[in-house]
Amino acid sequence: MTIANIAAKPEASHFVGGAYIEDEAGAAIDVIYPATGETIATVRSATPAIVDRALETAASAQAEWAGRTGAERGRVLRRAADIIRARNRDLSELETLDTGKPLSETLVADASSGADALEYFGNLAATLTGEHIALGGDFVYAVREPLGVCAGIGAWNYPTQIACWKAAPALACGNAMVFKPSEVTPLCTLKIAQILIEAGAPPGLFNVVQGYGDVGAALATDPRVAKVSLTGSVPTGQKVYSAAAGHMKHVTMELGGKSPILVFDDADIEDAVGGAILGNFYSSGQICSNGTRVFVQRGLHDRFVERLVERTRGAVIGDPLDEATSFGPLVSEAQLDKVLGYVDIGRAEGAEIVAGGNRIDRPGFYMEPTIFTGVTDEMTIAREEIFGPVLSVLAFDDEDEAVARANATEFGLAAGVFTRDLARAHRVIAQLQAGTCFINAYNLTPVEAPFGGVKQSGVGRENGHAAIEHYSQLKTVYVGLGPVEAPF
Ligand code: NDP
Repeated sequence: MTIANIAAKPEASHFVGGAYIEDEAGAAIDVIYPATGETIATVRSATPAIVDRALETAASAQAEWAGRTGAERGRVLRRAADIIRARNRDLSELETLDTGKPLSETLVADASSGADALEYFGNLAATLTGEHIALGGDFVYAVREPLGVCAGIGAWNYPTQIACWKAAPALACGNAMVFKPSEVTPLCTLKIAQILIEAGAPPGLFNVVQGYGDVGAALATDPRVAKVSLTGSVPTGQKVYSAAAGHMKHVTMELGGKSPILVFDDADIEDAVGGAILGNFYSSGQICSNGTRVFVQRGLHDRFVERLVERTRGAVIGDPLDEATSFGPLVSEAQLDKVLGYVDIGRAEGAEIVAGGNRIDRPGFYMEPTIFTGVTDEMTIAREEIFGPVLSVLAFDDEDEAVARANATEFGLAAGVFTRDLARAHRVIAQLQAGTCFINAYNLTPVEAPFGGVKQSGVGRENGHAAIEHYSQLKTVYVGLGPVEAPF
């Protein structure tokens, strides 16, 4: 791997068996800084030999790790959280170089969110128990056991957070993990692997292998892998889920969305506009749970659009390493082209652009935060996940109509409601088909709260106590204390 001028640079492409390793036989993957288009590093895709070594070392580390007490495992995870927090600035700069997200975001939302997960699941590790069931003499106990070696496969929008959200519950439960980051953002996860070793994890407990989808597929199909946790698009989720089915592996699928935000006439307009901005333009719109269909009740519609456009003009677009910047580039030229393609489709299908809509004339992959009005449910931009800074405003008249239209999608990741009428807020949320919902807030995802989707948006939950269920299994033991009564 070659890399220049990065403070916290990883030393090689992969992290396996507790150390950085290189395999020059792997295909080269250039790491592009999205703000300039420059190549800042080159990593190599994992050859089958590297994947094999990662799985072998994970299996032996897992056996040792599962033999430690929960308290001991938890201490290692909490120590890793402390190291991450102490190095937050270096890790945040690396995340910015990897993804192009502004430092003003990465300083508060990425490494720190990863640390929160390691701390939270570190604290839970010593509390994990099974159950005892009295049978009036005989009894049953059920032991909570780890699954074994888990594979984590990540998307490019939150590389550090995704790795930690998967690793923290997996390791707390006594599993090991082999993680494949997106080839677009391969750097940050290596630092997490290094920090876990510094914190006292056994070598091989958390390994990082680079590569394209074929490396992810190798993990998803390998019989040594007990569980696959993917963050990615619905089409990739379908492939990985069916590959995992071959060996009846456990899965967690954190997939895409086309989430609705419902803004009622009585909403606090500044809060609703703030929610729509957070739910569409944070991370340049590259967030799975974004509320990209903003349904606004007709009485508030025009004022809402006016304030939304005014406040969107306040975005500070620029160098992501400048902390004054609040809106950075998209992650890649390919993603920019895809998003601009959707803008063209929106225009061609008759929606009106009231803000943005253009590529920005500067190096890197920048486009303006873009707002469409006059969007109807049938339009492509209201149906497909764009994964960029494109917000669609749709007008509605009454509550039942809004709920029906919000639910008319294959996705079900998130949903939000803005209203001052709390009875209506809860009534509407109860009817919305989404796994992660917000009332008078949007896109806040504390580690304490389960996160995930319904319908095509996913299977399983990350974060909260719920994640423990997805990284452990129960062994039931019936204990007979009396004579065995057989029929013959
Ligand atoms: P992709 O689905 O393209 O890729 C996700 C990961 O899967 C990548 O590491 C990718 O590798 C890998 N992969 C691709 N094909 C296979 C395969 N056949 N077997 C195993 N692994 C494979 O998603 P993006 O990286 O483009 O991320 C954007 C998507 O992620 C959006 O749809 C977004 O909504 C979703 N997402 C969901 C989140 C959630 O929590 N619900 C959070 C963040 C994003 P490679 O990149 O090398 O092809």
